[in-house]
Amino acid sequence: MKIRPGLCCVAILALLAAPLWAQAVNVYSYRQPDLVRPLFDAFTAKTGIRVNVSFLNQGMIEKLRAEGDRSPADLVFTVDISRLNGLVEAGLTQPVASDILNANIPADFRDPAGHWFGLTTRARVIYAARDRVRDGEITTYEDLADEKWRGRICTRPGTHSYNLALISAYLTHHSKAETRAWLMAIRKNLARKPQGNDRAQIKAVWSGECDIALGNTYYMGQMIRNPDQKAWADAVRIIFPVFEGGGTHVNISGMAMTGAAPNRDNALKLMEFLSTRPAQSLYAEQNFEYPLLADAPVSELVASWGSFSPDDRNLMAIAHLRQTALRLVEEVNFDQ
Ligand code: FE
Repeated sequence: MKIRPGLCCVAILALLAAPLWAQAVNVYSYRQPDLVRPLFDAFTAKTGIRVNVSFLNQGMIEKLRAEGDRSPADLVFTVDISRLNGLVEAGLTQPVASDILNANIPADFRDPAGHWFGLTTRARVIYAARDRVRDGEITTYEDLADEKWRGRICTRPGTHSYNLALISAYLTHHSKAETRAWLMAIRKNLARKPQGNDRAQIKAVWSGECDIALGNTYYMGQMIRNPDQKAWADAVRIIFPVFEGGGTHVNISGMAMTGAAPNRDNALKLMEFLSTRPAQSLYAEQNFEYPLLADAPVSELVASWGSFSPDDRNLMAIAHLRQTALRLVEEVNFDQ
């Protein structure tokens, strides 16, 4: 019989490594390292379970599909309900039943079947030039179509997921024809071709290129914290618009367990930890997001921007309208 030292060593190494693997959880994240690292470090400090993170910019569905049952990933983290729903619809997640998650995360912000869970919310609001837009001058998303804003609005591309979710939410309040007309009117009101990220729009308000911009709430906190961007933040104030007869559009950041999940127990522990007060407070303080745990406090800075009533439209309904929203954006040539 032939001895195969290579194989033997691999077997021994695997045996030695087994207890270590048992104390890890593997994460694929669309969320940026500086946003999620402090949370994972807090989890490791509490439990001794390592969190290995792969940060992806795109292609999560393709990667998980290619890896199949052999995927090392246990959990995925992303923003936007459509991205979470996309993973579920691609069959890449598994349901999670947890009394802790169900108690901490309100029912509207998790999948009834347990395939995805929200962790935080963020509102999509208007950043208005302090010196050029008066209080009460714009109060609704519908108002964005008013011709008094001709040449005064900046936004990132309509095809971006943040805007597609907003347009999808608009579709839950209005007909398709009304939504198309709204988009065409906003397009006419743009100061420039949609380009850049949310903060680039606020910078454009600061520089005088436009007077109002669409953006997510937490960017105000990020700009205030960044010495190079503080002036942009100081030039604007946040207005929480509502849909006529509704509330302010919010989207979520969230998580899901992958179908493969080799470290299922540890993954569940991490999910549960992220829904508890210490983690929810970290999200609030470090990321300037709104925690979903009812008794976790909003950061003082975020509270200073004012309060609002979130729109009550179902997140899955919004996710299901994404394709319709995308077609409308293309039909009206919003980004051209
Ligand atoms: Fe963002």
